Amino acid sequence: MRKLLFISLSVLFTLNLQARVRSKCSLRKSISPKCYHKRDDATLKVALISYGSNIKESDLDRIGKILEVRFAKATNDLVRVEIVNKTEMDFKHTLPSDYVQDNIKDPERLHRIWYYDNVGAKIMQEVYEEYKTIATDDLMDELDAMLIITGAQFNGLGFATGRVSVTESPREIAWGLPGGGRVEYPTDYEIVDELIHELGHNMFLGHASSQCQKPGMTYEEKKLCCENSEAKNDVMSYCRGRAVVDETKMYGFESCNLGMIENLVVPAMLEGKRWNVRGRVSCR
Ligand SMILES: [Zn+2]
Repeated sequence: MRKLLFISLSVLFTLNLQARVRSKCSLRKSISPKCYHKRDDATLKVALISYGSNIKESDLDRIGKILEVRFAKATNDLVRVEIVNKTEMDFKHTLPSDYVQDNIKDPERLHRIWYYDNVGAKIMQEVYEEYKTIATDDLMDELDAMLIITGAQFNGLGFATGRVSVTESPREIAWGLPGGGRVEYPTDYEIVDELIHELGHNMFLGHASSQCQKPGMTYEEKKLCCENSEAKNDVMSYCRGRAVVDETKMYGFESCNLGMIENLVVPAMLEGKRWNVRGRVSCR
């Protein structure tokens, strides 16, 4: 009897421990889970989310396929992406009727710019919270990262926080100018380039050739620095020429980042270890 009790308690303890480990590594509990779930192969399970964007559900199918192919290529097949969920969502906030911009009347443009003024980079938290209200707990547990394409504007091309990333589509350009600026629609390939970069951050990688982006550097200094940077063509580098990305041209991770992916990130994924891997180097 005593032995049976001991076994029962051990089983309960183990189950409880597994549940705790699982929740500590889960996006259900935090936008920035501290560890990876243990797994058999280095595949990142990702949700691709369109939030108040021109990108529709059918566009997500197409973009998701390009992302899966290009991410595998970008990592030399060290890590793969599997899109396990695609969701199209409307903005949480409606456009207040008293919101005005001097030169813009189009309510869709105003709505995107309202987000710039009122939400900014907090858009990631907003989408995370909204998505959790529709995603099942099992799905939230399964996910390694959430990639968001949004019409909400913020200061930058993309952002990552913890395991959540965001990029803009469409992009509002210079709306404060007389004439009201313009709207740009990034191509699938440009969106994917940005998402690969942000997924790099979601794997806890920093920027490559950051020595070329120091405050106070002139355009000429940055250009020269980039020319001499070994990591200039890394997808994590601001030196990369985004404008050339198209159906045939893409950027991937270069040797320095590939080394960290192979030696730090993949083992952490396979062994279910800490997400914020130790021993990173700066890829210059
Ligand atoms: Zn970045």
